[in-house]
Amino acid sequence: MDDYALVLNAGSSSLKFCVYRRPSGAAWGLEARGQIEGIGTAPRLTAKNAAGEKSEEALGEDVRDGRAALDRLAAWLRGRYGGSRVLGVGHRVVHGGPSFSGPAVVTPEVMEELRRLVPLAPLHQPYNLGAIEAVTERLPGVPQVACFDTSFHRGQPAVAELVPLPREIRDAGVQRYGFHGLSYEYIASVLPEAAPEIAKKRVIVAHLGSGASLCAMKDGRSVDSSLGFTALDGLCMGTRPGALDPGVVLHLFQGLGLSPKDVEAILYKKSGLLGVSGISNDMRDLVDKDDPQARLAVDYFVYRAAKEIGALAAVLRGVDALVFTAGIGENSAEIRRRICEASAWLGIELYDAANAARGPRISRVNSKVSAWVIPTNEELMIARHTGRLLGLSA
Ligand code: AMP
Repeated sequence: MDDYALVLNAGSSSLKFCVYRRPSGAAWGLEARGQIEGIGTAPRLTAKNAAGEKSEEALGEDVRDGRAALDRLAAWLRGRYGGSRVLGVGHRVVHGGPSFSGPAVVTPEVMEELRRLVPLAPLHQPYNLGAIEAVTERLPGVPQVACFDTSFHRGQPAVAELVPLPREIRDAGVQRYGFHGLSYEYIASVLPEAAPEIAKKRVIVAHLGSGASLCAMKDGRSVDSSLGFTALDGLCMGTRPGALDPGVVLHLFQGLGLSPKDVEAILYKKSGLLGVSGISNDMRDLVDKDDPQARLAVDYFVYRAAKEIGALAAVLRGVDALVFTAGIGENSAEIRRRICEASAWLGIELYDAANAARGPRISRVNSKVSAWVIPTNEELMIARHTGRLLGLSA
């Protein structure tokens, strides 16, 4: 009987999963990855196995919430891997608060602490914890591991974590946490092999996907990042504005009389590339579009990224390398070119042919600051943590 381990990344309307398999006596390998999207609207399950074969099925409307999605996934898994043993489940959990500086085996005490963080990440944490609870009910004996997007950033200097508000507010947990930590940790873990000459140096990693942020790393550790107390700060994102004068938020409440729900929807779902372009939150729809608002949205995305790169270069007191990753960072040569050109003053000289071919090194040999494309793999990072904490290594 083969052994299996699952990785789950549960969001408000999607459940992403990876299945890892360990044939008897062999090492762990990725067996399948996929997602259930459109939970509550038009749910669909799509998956791809290790051989690249795709499967896709529309799910019934009864898949209205995360629990129902997990039940459907369990049925799908049983249909393929019925009779096998699940040795552990690793979860992405967006918020680990100030205390979790690494992944944790799930216990009732850990869950209690994570539930206290729900107000700090209301759009993600409840779904992440819901998946853990659902697995606990359905597979009570199977150990689970929570892997946090904040952990990699713990240990930053006090000034980088500070939100300069009165003490009593800070004592209630208001500080900069940073996010996309599993992605940054994965990049840090592969740099010694993928780009050994920069692994121990001053590196800015640009995680540019539907959520986007930068991380300043020194010797593979996070020293600052562009996301802060929530995943709203810093760069312009698909539907989030990035850094915003807090006076604008006050004006939304006091001047325009909007409700907290309205303001939340504006900040998380209606701004960024979508809000500026009025067309789409997807960079693919905007990058070559001959439309003034689409151009402005892309210009702002690049402008903001270059501005934050400059800020993090100051934090690092100089920079040795810039690494692009995630959906836009890995796939859009045009956005990489524009960000590198806007950052040429730092000493980045792009090599166009390498950029078009996705690198991995995309800068000229003599470029003072090197530039790279390195694909991220947050699920693999979760799988590694889960295997290590549960002692599942082959
Ligand atoms: P992620 O959140 O890392 O999965 O990234 C998803 C985002 O990557 C999408 O919303 C797109 O905006 C962007 N993306 C993916 N492929 C491309 C591409 N070829 N060109 C530009 N943007 C892309």
